[in-house]
Amino acid sequence: MKKNEHIAIIGGGYTGMIAAYELSKAGKKVTIFEKEDDLGGLARSFDIGNGIQLERFYHHWFKSDKHIMSLIEEMALTSNIVWNKTNTGMYFANNFYKLSSPIELLKFSALSFTDRIKLGLLTLKAKYVKDWKELESLSAKDWLIKNAGKKVYEVVWEPLLKGKFGDYSDSISAVWIWNKLKLRGSSRNKKGGESLAYYRGGFAALTSSLKESLRENGVKIETNSAVHTLIVKQNKVVGVGTSDGKDILCDSVLSTVALPILSKIINKSKFGSDLYIEYFKSQISSIKYLGNVCLVLVLEKSLSDTYWMNVNDPDFPFVAVIEHTNFEPRTSYEGKYIVYLSKYLPVSDLIFGMTKKELLNFSIPYIKRMFPKFNEQWIQDAYLWKESYSQPIVTKNYSQNIPSFKSPISGLFLSCMAQIYPEDRGTNYAVKYGKIVSEILINNNTE
Ligand SMILES: Cc1cc2nc3c(=O)[nH]c(=O)nc-3n(C[C@H](O)[C@H](O)[C@H](O)COP(=O)(O)OP(=O)(O)OC[C@H]3O[C@@H](n4cnc5c(N)ncnc54)[C@H](O)[C@@H]3O)c2cc1C
Repeated sequence: MKKNEHIAIIGGGYTGMIAAYELSKAGKKVTIFEKEDDLGGLARSFDIGNGIQLERFYHHWFKSDKHIMSLIEEMALTSNIVWNKTNTGMYFANNFYKLSSPIELLKFSALSFTDRIKLGLLTLKAKYVKDWKELESLSAKDWLIKNAGKKVYEVVWEPLLKGKFGDYSDSISAVWIWNKLKLRGSSRNKKGGESLAYYRGGFAALTSSLKESLRENGVKIETNSAVHTLIVKQNKVVGVGTSDGKDILCDSVLSTVALPILSKIINKSKFGSDLYIEYFKSQISSIKYLGNVCLVLVLEKSLSDTYWMNVNDPDFPFVAVIEHTNFEPRTSYEGKYIVYLSKYLPVSDLIFGMTKKELLNFSIPYIKRMFPKFNEQWIQDAYLWKESYSQPIVTKNYSQNIPSFKSPISGLFLSCMAQIYPEDRGTNYAVKYGKIVSEILINNNTE
């Protein structure tokens, strides 16, 4: 291994942090450049009062999230993982349905008895798919209709796919929905009850411990420092240029930002003409993303006793109502009730451009329609969080579009949410893939 080799990491989300952790353990000199004032990326938190931290976007872990659990174990922090019972429901045609257990599923009167059985069997069918590659060329729509019938698709899955992917919903890959079914199934016990994991003190506490380990390992963390260009010598990347006017030389650059951001950075950099670079640029531009808007309400009273309520009505301005304090007890939040209203959407959507006040006013009539007892006076605080690159759009034959961890541009490596496949994004996979790319970097530079 080359001595004092310096790796610059663009982005201080979980992928960037984990890669920095692994590379620094292997003796590399590492600098993280993060455009925001703190690390954590999409799993960042905010202060809801008196120093209490809450994720901007709802976060939990599934039983199958082994990579992040192992990392936490390695950091001797396993005692901070808490498993909480959760429940799932659905709002459909002005009614609420509980859908947490096989018994509740059997009572799901929006479907005929036969269709309820078909819906229940889907999770089993997903479990027995041996090789995800056999689903690659199928759309989620076709696979769901084939395996559970048209009615189940129209009542349960179509509104959810439309709510999550909008105009792209018909072209979403069967691999994506298969993976979701598998994940939820893995977090259920034999009786069908679900438990999900959280971190004591929230994800902010884990981020803070990670930051501490990084500093102990000598990692340099540059916050408020956006990388806007790559320094290039003979078409090899030899450093990064930042928004605060610094040019930092290094041996390799690892980008963990969304592909459209990397695309912009490459376009601003001075590469000479090269077919491979042109191909790489077109490859990374082919993957599209959706944004997400989360309106977080701090309430005096509870909306319902359900943690995760899917909203199966495309007229509603949110696809899920997530009452966080039906997952992590409200004693962690001085007795307050916390609800996320979540919507995935293209950034060109009107809702993405709304201010907090506008979105709140727009949403209140819908909240009242769903929860007739709800009163605006219950709202103690509201927060609005938006992210442009929240969900890569996983279309059919997605594996053919995914760029490699080692780019064709010498000195440039990448690991980001869009490369997570056949799994879907998540902090667990940020750990898995952050480690994979670190190994590639370490081996690449072995002398
Ligand atoms: C609504 C929502 C709900 C989610 N729920 C869960 C969940 O329940 N459980 C779970 O595990 N995961 C969940 N996730 C996914 C999880 O948050 C992500 O998979 C994970 O945080 C991605 O980490 P990352 O480091 O790959 O990317 P990011 O978190 O996007 O990190 C990229 C970083 O790069 C920075 N950056 C951008 N441009 C620049 C630049 N030019 N220069 C320097 N830095 C830059 C960004 O500020 C950011 O910090 C959810 C995500 C969303 C949006």
